[in-house]
Amino acid sequence: MIYLDNAATTRTAPEVVEAMLPFFSENYGNASSIYGLGSASKKALNQARRTLAEALGARQEEIYFTAGGSEADNWALKAAAETYKDRGKHIVTTRIEHHAVLHTCAYLEKQGYEVTYVGVDENGIVRLEELEAALRPDTILISVMFANNEVGTLQPIKEIGQIAHEQGILFHTDAVQAFGQLPIRVDELHIDMLSASAHKVNGPKGVGCLYIRSGLKLGSFIHGGAQERSRRAGTENVPGIVGFGKAIERAVAIMPEKIEREKRLRDYLIDLIYEEIPYCRLNGDRDRRLPGNVNFSFQFVEGESVLIMLDMKGICASSGSACTSGALDPSHVLLAMGLSHELAHGSLRLTLSEENTEEEMDAVVEALKEILGKLRAMSPLYEDFMKSRKGEGHVQ
Ligand SMILES: *Cc1c(COP(=O)(O)O)cnc(C)c1O
Repeated sequence: MIYLDNAATTRTAPEVVEAMLPFFSENYGNASSIYGLGSASKKALNQARRTLAEALGARQEEIYFTAGGSEADNWALKAAAETYKDRGKHIVTTRIEHHAVLHTCAYLEKQGYEVTYVGVDENGIVRLEELEAALRPDTILISVMFANNEVGTLQPIKEIGQIAHEQGILFHTDAVQAFGQLPIRVDELHIDMLSASAHKVNGPKGVGCLYIRSGLKLGSFIHGGAQERSRRAGTENVPGIVGFGKAIERAVAIMPEKIEREKRLRDYLIDLIYEEIPYCRLNGDRDRRLPGNVNFSFQFVEGESVLIMLDMKGICASSGSACTSGALDPSHVLLAMGLSHELAHGSLRLTLSEENTEEEMDAVVEALKEILGKLRAMSPLYEDFMKSRKGEGHVQ
């Protein structure tokens, strides 16, 4: 098997699993209890909180554990909207956010909030002028993702943070794809709230966190007990949180090496696809992208068909299309970047980890050549195209 879907989820690192195990068995105590068994859990929670805080340049009391990235996004947006509604009911976000942000915004619109969805350029980078122009006296929140999960594009977070703070507007970033992958300092970047998730960085699924800058009066999301400084009730997921802490400790330790290795492999794969496969287009900025992200559109094919045929060869990848109600919706990210429906449907996302090898990249491109050859041979559009235009080239 060749696993190239690390933006969807990652393999839990063996040392992470090992760190978690005792908290299922001998150290099963409730972290809120007084006795020794509980305090072992409490200690482990605090250790994980310190690790995460250090990784962000934050203080440990600014880290709140959640049940994942989606919960952190929901919390940040809904609580900010509720808390600051007397100041205004306008929110600014982008057209390329994860659905955890977009669908939360749609929900808030139903509650009477107004949301402006700022566009991106052809490489998927947020247009700063458009963002600035969207701000109003009643704007209470800007939410822009750190790195896009489909095309990997890195956003001008520091500039956006500066704009937000100059105007006294809260700034939230969904950093699920970036935390543990790239260095992040919340102060330098003017970030007030940041969402992260463990399973995108070799940690366990179902655990994440929301960084909330101290002094920010954000209401709680889950009501109940006094856990997480009364802001997020519920008995803590101690094994999950321990795993998150270990995953981030590991990620920080290997970060420079991992970035360099993934970038090299990424660029190797991009060059090889361009060399070997005609009529394709790299989606997203060539350089300003996540070290492990490759996203191509192939003309005359459906991404979904490519995926199925790759799966038959033991290759795990992803396409931007989402299957809703039996129909394939093209990626909202690629459409926002100005791609035609056809090219948006023909997209393929390959996301690497530090475990992938050059041999795997060679094998994937071999497989793609064969698959695209077969699919295009069956495509009437391709046939017409070849009849009308002889020769080879890349789509611009
Ligand atoms: C995966 C992802 C999420 C959701 O995180 P979960 O922990 O799976 O809920 C949110 N935002 C982005 C950008 C993601 O890639």
